Amino acid sequence: MEDCIFCKITRGDIQSEKVFDGPDFIAIKDIEPKAPVHILIVPKKHVESLKDIDESDGNLLGNMMLQVKRIANEQGIAESGFKVLINNGKDAGQEVPHLHIHLMGGVQMDSIL
Ligand code: AMP
Ligand code: ZN
Repeated sequence: MEDCIFCKITRGDIQSEKVFDGPDFIAIKDIEPKAPVHILIVPKKHVESLKDIDESDGNLLGNMMLQVKRIANEQGIAESGFKVLINNGKDAGQEVPHLHIHLMGGVQMDSIL
């Protein structure tokens, strides 16, 4: 996807602050953090949102979740608690139409439910 900002980031065309770089996904610091720790886990292949995944993406998504746990440990927020969020589509307020997992922590947050 030529114009997709997260494709540009995963390709390295746009700079980002990476905390992880693997074969299938990266993890970067959010440019406008909403918590002291705010990291985005971003697949290297372009997928717009969870509405576009299928059975072949099971390992990718599972591995991204395992990476969430590792990063939560590295960032020292595993015990204090962390929020994991995926916005999908307009009603969820998704701004960047390239699937990503938000990992947030380091502060007391409200439940949105
Ligand atoms: P969402 O609303 O779920 O699509 O979230 C998009 C997130 O991407 C927001 O938290 C933005 O602050 C973040 N973001 C946008 N551009 C960049 C960028 N160039 N580098 C890092 N994070 C970004
Ligand atoms: Zn993309």
